[in-house]
This record gives sequence, C-alpha cells and structure tokens, in this order.
Amino acid sequence: MFLPAYGTGGIAPGHNQFPLILSPFAIGHVELRNRFVFQPHFTALGELDGTPSKAHAAYHEERARGGVGLIIFESQAIHPTGKMSRRFVDAWDPKIIPAHRHITESVHRHGAKIFGQLTHGGHTSLEHPPHILWAPTQMPEPSSHFSTKAIDEDDIKAVIEGFAASARNLVEAGFDGIEVKVAHDGLLRSFASPYFNRRTDGYGGSFENRLRLSIEVFEAIRKAVGPAVPLGVRLCVNEFTVFGYDTEYGLQIAEYFQSSGLLDYFNSDAGSFSSYWMEIPPAAVAQDDFRKINSELKSMSRLPVIAFGRMNSPQLGEEALRNGEADLIGMARQLIADPWTPEKTLRGRADLVRRCISCNDACIHQVGQEKGVRCIQNPGAGREGQVNERLLAPITRQQSIVVIGGGPAGLKVAETAARRGHNVTLLERNSVLGGQVRYAEKQPEHANIGEVTSYLEIIAQECGVDIRRSKAGTPDSIHELRPDVVIVATGSEPNLPRTSSSDVEVSRALGRQILPDIDGLNQDFVVSCDDVLSGKVQLSGKVVVVDNNGHWEAAGTAEFLADAGCEVIVLAAHSAGNELESGTCKLFYRRAAIKNIKLRSGLTLTGIGNHTVTVTPVISGNDAIGWAKYVLMPGDEEVIAGVDWVVPVIGRRSREDLFLALKKDPRFTSVRVERVGDCVAPRLIESNIAEAFLLAQTL
Ligand code: SF4
Repeated sequence: MFLPAYGTGGIAPGHNQFPLILSPFAIGHVELRNRFVFQPHFTALGELDGTPSKAHAAYHEERARGGVGLIIFESQAIHPTGKMSRRFVDAWDPKIIPAHRHITESVHRHGAKIFGQLTHGGHTSLEHPPHILWAPTQMPEPSSHFSTKAIDEDDIKAVIEGFAASARNLVEAGFDGIEVKVAHDGLLRSFASPYFNRRTDGYGGSFENRLRLSIEVFEAIRKAVGPAVPLGVRLCVNEFTVFGYDTEYGLQIAEYFQSSGLLDYFNSDAGSFSSYWMEIPPAAVAQDDFRKINSELKSMSRLPVIAFGRMNSPQLGEEALRNGEADLIGMARQLIADPWTPEKTLRGRADLVRRCISCNDACIHQVGQEKGVRCIQNPGAGREGQVNERLLAPITRQQSIVVIGGGPAGLKVAETAARRGHNVTLLERNSVLGGQVRYAEKQPEHANIGEVTSYLEIIAQECGVDIRRSKAGTPDSIHELRPDVVIVATGSEPNLPRTSSSDVEVSRALGRQILPDIDGLNQDFVVSCDDVLSGKVQLSGKVVVVDNNGHWEAAGTAEFLADAGCEVIVLAAHSAGNELESGTCKLFYRRAAIKNIKLRSGLTLTGIGNHTVTVTPVISGNDAIGWAKYVLMPGDEEVIAGVDWVVPVIGRRSREDLFLALKKDPRFTSVRVERVGDCVAPRLIESNIAEAFLLAQTL
C-alpha cells in the first residue's frame, strides 16, 4: 500500500476513537475546530530587526495545514528591556503588523485560529551577557549570575503600556486572542513570586500586591482590545524549585486571576529557569507530574484549561479530556515532530503519528543557543519553506533502489524514496532494524530513542518498502537485485582495536582511518560501549568510562553500568555529558550523584596498563616558559589502579568498505551509488535523518 501524501487522504469511514479531542470548542467568541493547541514556544526564528520572519510564517502555516485547532504564537516582547533573545519579536512596535498579518492570514486560510503570547522577559534571558534585566527586587535568578534592576514606578507604567500597545498591534495584525505569560520565565511571574518579589510598595509585600502588576496588565489589555477578544494566562502553577512557590500557591494565583473577571482561559504550566527540565520536560520526567497539575488547575477553574506536559499522542490527549483533566490539549514538541498529528487523527491514522520522544536534542537545544528550532525526527522543522516532508520532489522515472542498512539513515532514505514513488528494497544484516538506536535505548531514561526507528520501520513498511531482515548487503547480493540506485547506510562502530567488524579493513589499509594513539587499548579488559549495551559483555567491579563524546553514548553507558552494580568513574576532557541539552544534562548529573557515579573533568586518557588507567589533566603548567606559555600542554599524570574494565568512548569509525567496494566494482558502473549517515561520518541522529531525507529527494 502506498501512503497518500500529507493532507490528501480521505477520512477513514466510521472511525470515532477520538470524539473529544476532535470536537469543536469555543474560547469566548472564538470557535476552534478541535481541541489540539500548538503551545507557545521560543523558536529563535525571529528576524534580528525584531519582526516575525518568513520562516515563522511557514512554520505556523504547516501546523495549520496539519489540522491544529489553535496556535498560540510564541512569547513576544512588550518592551525593549523585555527581550529574552535578540530573536524575540518586538510586539510593542507597529512595524511587526505587516509580517504578522501574513502569518495570521496563512493560519486562518487553513481553518486554524491564532493567539499571540506577550511577555516581559524580566530577570531571565538567553543572551550572554544580557542587557539590564528588570525585576521586582534586585536579585538574580539562582541559576544565573546576572544581576538585575529593581524597577521603579515609571518602569512599571512602561510595562503596562507595553502590554496594551502590543495587544493592540497583535489584534490589528489579525490575531484572534491574547495570552499573557505569568509562566516559567518573565517579569510577571517574578512579581507574583514571594521569593523574587521582596518589595514593600504597592507591588509587593502582600499576596494581592504581588499580583497587582498582572491585574493592571490584564485591565490595560482589556481596555486596548475590548471585551470580545479572548484573553488568557499561561500560568506557572508550581515552580519546582526549593525556593519557589508550590501548587497550593499557584492555584491561589489562579483563583485570584479568575475572580478578576478579566480572563477567558488558563494555559497550564510549571517550572522555571532554575528548574528548566520541568518547563520543557525531557523523557526522564514523568508525564503524570504534569497531568496532576493540569487536573488540579482544572478542578478549581471556572475557565477553560489547556493541558501541557509531554502530551505526545492523540490517545493521551483523548484520555486527559475523558478524565476531565483539561478542556484543550496543548502540544508544543509533538507538533514540532509531527505537524500533521491532528490531521492524521482526523483521518483515522493516529497509528501513523510520529511521536515526540522528549529528547530535547534539537528543538530546545537549538533555541537555547538562539538557533532556529529543529527536530531530530522532522527534517523540515523550523525550515518548512526550504525542507518539507509534505513537499516531495516529483519523480521523472520510477527507479529500483536498494538501501543497505536499517538504522535511522537507511530507514529514512528508504521511506522518503518510497513515498516519492520509487521501488525500494532495504537489506539489514541483523534480524532487527534500528542500528545503534537498539543499543542507545538500553540506557536508563533513554528508552524513548527506540521509538525513532520503530516509527521509521512502521512508516517505511506503510510506504511499501520491501524490508529484508537478516540479509547482508554484499556486492553480489545487491547486484542480484539489479538496482538503478544503491544507498549504503552501513553505520559506524567504536574506533577501538578489538571491535570485531571487518567492514573497515579496506578503509584502514588505505589509511582512510586510524586508531587512537593510546597505549593499551588492545587489552581484553577494554571494551566498547556497543559491546556493553548489546549484552555481548557483562561488566562488574570498577569500570572507567572515558567520555570524549559528551553525549548519551558515554553518559548513558556509565549509568547503565552503575545500574548493573558496577563502581563507575567517568573521565572527560571537558565535563561528562557536556553536549547534552542542559536540562537533560542536569538530570543526568543528579542521577549520577544518586547512583554514586564519579564524574571527573578536565582529564584525558593517555594510557592503559595492567588494570590501570593513566590520565592526564588536559591543561597543566608544564614547560610554561617563553612562548610555550601560550601552548596548551597536558601534564601531571595520574594512575588509577585496580580497574576491572575500561570503556573508552573516544570516537567511532565509518563502516565504509562496502561503499568503497561498490564504487570499484565494474558491475555497478552504470548504477548510482551513494552513502548516507554514519558511514559517511559518525554523527548524531538528527543530522543523519535530515541528510537521508535530502538525499532521497534527489533520487
Ligand atoms: Fe521532540 Fe526530540 Fe523532536 Fe524536540 S527534537 S520535538 S524533543 S523528538
């Protein structure tokens, strides 16, 4: 069966599995076609001049096409001092209206509604160093060292006027409603917080005074846009810090706000800059924590409530609605990963929804660095105008394509080529698909990564790919299939002397690959993380893991070994896990502390002896005379004794022998031979999937 292109399939007859999430709902006078809400989230797609970009327009139009009921456009700054990033949109300035009008028209054209969220960033910023940060009281967010200005009454007046002017601009640009952020960052939450607000004037000291600024903002917006435009609040219900407020206080705020009679809905939220992982929870944080918050807010609220918190499937949304946990289902990352979630649900193909795995590896990791939003699974996220799974290049001739390797890159290239209409056969030498992902999913709190290739397997089959498991791709077996195109996706392996593969012998003989220059790597107590995670070896006792990778490969393997009862030491040239998304990394550190994993930084592996490991500080004072003062020198060796096992995560090598062989084989002279993924150069999954999609578009 060939899967219809996005948006062209009919609705499956008689399917009624999702009666609630697909039912219409009204917020004030605004009618929504269903209960799917695209939650506001920073995309870093804004232009540097403070206007919304064409990328913004394409991003939101894609979600509107994909069937979402309501889009809430990301936080926009209401004042120059309120920008948390140079990529924030300047909502206070009428210059934004033309570009925004284009966005709202695009969204409306596809039947969705769009609200705009407004904020003043207050004492939080993504910029380093930031501009002067505004706060109720002069004190930094504990997770940051940037000091603040305690704002005066003129500043407060400017904030209120900024919210009102911004709301007016948005409504003029065609937005259907306004949302005010009293959520995980920003000035209004810091005013609401007893910890951050120590003022004794009319804006602090008592509960009502701490909320006065928010109420004055709501009043000003109401005055600016009138009673008909829905006005809601994204509300942090629990800050999840040792110093912050709890759910009881959060619900008191909600009660006070709704009693004002100025609001039309609540958008549930939790966490703060100092508990970043509760704002945008990675997979390690249980969904139930957030569902409880949604339920508690819903129980006391007389206003509609939008749920939040890793809502990554229509099934979960339907269940939350059925349980009365919320009125609408907010999804941010889920609709980044699969903008077509609502449409697939409507079409009766919820089974084909590509679920967000809460890895945070691309979306949040990117925008935290003020780079445009991306997704490891969706190659078009944040660049829909240029790269888009819906906009497949038409084929001029159906070709026979053979893909060798069923890891993420092989599966993605096979899926996309088949979706475009080619005849695709995929050969995988193992009995299961997934490649390295099958190892990575064994790591604690990392099981979700397995869903990436499980989904690709399902969708590749759905698109008609002929998948042959336990079938090695050799020049002979490939030739038998008489392909027009061969795509080699044979992956990579740890770059250690004793790894068993023969897939790199030619490459190494040609000097295309070399082993690390470290004595003792070939000893039998030195094993790879692949061998550990595949179960090929079972380790015990004292294990040294060397982390030259900074990502899950070493960090997750260390935790896997600690869970298996090993005494684990992780050595890292920078710090263990330093390439992980910041929330994920902090949670790894916390688990490492709980599990007694010793994390040691600034060290490099220089030799392995007889159950000893020699490490050297990356930088020392050795030879620090003359010009040598300016050359970074290792020195001051340390020997760690009594080591039972060493697991060096010090790089991978591409399995490129098959590719090299096909390129030389005269039987393939008239065949297009390409390679993709780790067998080109070992990388992270996001890069491999995107590369595979782009390659498939050229076939
Ligand atoms: Fe979800 Fe990961 Fe994609 Fe972010 S990068 S949207 S967390 S799957």
